[in-house]
Amino acid sequence: MESLSVSEIIRKIQKFPKKNLIHLPTPLYKLENLSQALGGPDIFIKRDDLTGLALGGNKSRKLEFIIHDVLDKGADVIITWASLQSNWCLQTAAAARKFGITPILILFKTYDLPEEYDGNLLLDFILDADIKIREGPKGGVVKAEDVEEILEEIILDIKEGGHSPYVAPIGGSMVGGSMEKPLGAISYVSAFVEMLEQAEAHGFEMDYVIHASGSGGTQAGLAVAAKALKGGTKVLGISVSDDKETFGKDVLTVAKDTVNALGLDLEINKEDIIVFDEYIGEGYGIINKEVSDTIRFAAKKEGIFLDPVYTGKAMLALFDLIKKGYFKKEDKVVFCHTGGTPALFPNKDKISKFLGL
Ligand SMILES: *Cc1c(COP(=O)(O)O)cnc(C)c1O
Repeated sequence: MESLSVSEIIRKIQKFPKKNLIHLPTPLYKLENLSQALGGPDIFIKRDDLTGLALGGNKSRKLEFIIHDVLDKGADVIITWASLQSNWCLQTAAAARKFGITPILILFKTYDLPEEYDGNLLLDFILDADIKIREGPKGGVVKAEDVEEILEEIILDIKEGGHSPYVAPIGGSMVGGSMEKPLGAISYVSAFVEMLEQAEAHGFEMDYVIHASGSGGTQAGLAVAAKALKGGTKVLGISVSDDKETFGKDVLTVAKDTVNALGLDLEINKEDIIVFDEYIGEGYGIINKEVSDTIRFAAKKEGIFLDPVYTGKAMLALFDLIKKGYFKKEDKVVFCHTGGTPALFPNKDKISKFLGL
């Protein structure tokens, strides 16, 4: 198991063609005020909320590869699913529109948000995506069995209409549907290389990358790249839905598929997938006072907006881990902002209540 050079890993990623959807590199810089206020390690931020497509986020990185795959397979309709206010579904719909592909979104009501045109749902509507709303598991994530039946119906419909569907798995992470390679994770192998080069330009080495983990592709890609390049960076995934055992297994599956797809001589195992499940709160998509306070603290210190479903919980984790002495004072920690800010708006009632507006 030899360590790969950056140029070698770039060559392997380049075997997977992509469409140009976003602006790269996204910025990476130090959060001076936050680092000082917390008195712990140096905190940097990777602004993957600024990818540029449809208000930004990690899903648009993934979609550069996935949209290429859709076109390559001759499909003209993309179907995917997730929760009502899904960032993934919005980004998929926007990416599809840019390339003349029709987006069909199956949106599950997984938490008690009103079914009104706000946040991502409003944006899906503006994109004129074909939106199908269904009941879903409350406080949980949508599972494959929830979609099977409706998916079959839709696929039949599309084919009868003379069109060709591409089924994109939730989050673009786990291999499945029409996606035969872990394209989402591969985009995050690439993102890690981007971060490595930026950190080098800033004159530091990343001890930790911390980010919100949902369908596993982001973490899988980052963890594979970190290990392949042997820089010693640890990737900390903050689960927003499942417990660490269940979720860790999913990430590991995607990570192993990524190693195989890229043809890396690398053994990735359980120990490489570090998941925290202490910051889920009441469940997926459910915001509480701690998360609201964290969002406000980051906004007041740095003028940045986190989101209530993912990045607010990941930042809460970072604050708590610092408090518990998890990091050394001289460590360099990169917080990856994965997007999701449109979800602030449909959560306005809860956020304003918790912040005492
Ligand atoms: C989807 C998402 C994540 C999690 O990424 P995965 O690759 O699904 O684990 C994190 N943050 C935001 C804002 C997201 O939309």
